[in-house]
Amino acid sequence: MATMFWEASAGRVFVVRLATGSDLVREIEHLCAEQSVIAAEVSAIGAVRRARYAYYEQPAHRYRELESATHHEITGFVGNVSERDGRPFLHAHATFADSDGATVGGHLLPGIEVFAAEVVIRELLDVNLVRVHDEETGLALW
Ligand code: ZN
Repeated sequence: MATMFWEASAGRVFVVRLATGSDLVREIEHLCAEQSVIAAEVSAIGAVRRARYAYYEQPAHRYRELESATHHEITGFVGNVSERDGRPFLHAHATFADSDGATVGGHLLPGIEVFAAEVVIRELLDVNLVRVHDEETGLALW
């Protein structure tokens, strides 16, 4: 597969404070669905009570799911929203730091419990990003 690119234009910008106890991934997807955002760039900062993330095993084409049931700072979060199965899907990776500053991280899964989080969602317009199965990687890609 050759490199592909799209030119998008900037749309609305949502600046969000998530509720304590909410699900980091699901809440961002819910807000996007509610506001009809189907493409976006997402960043976030804050802290979580529990983290869930995954590592993609490239040869096996499957995710290894990991969980960290302690309090963490969100020390990095980058993601995007695109369309998957007809609705907004958040693809995000993050690092989480514990009380010693040690970090874990990966591909974010639902089930991350927010302590506090500030999120910025930058809508992308004039672009049609739909995830479909990619044979070579086993992933759902644009
Ligand atoms: Zn990922």
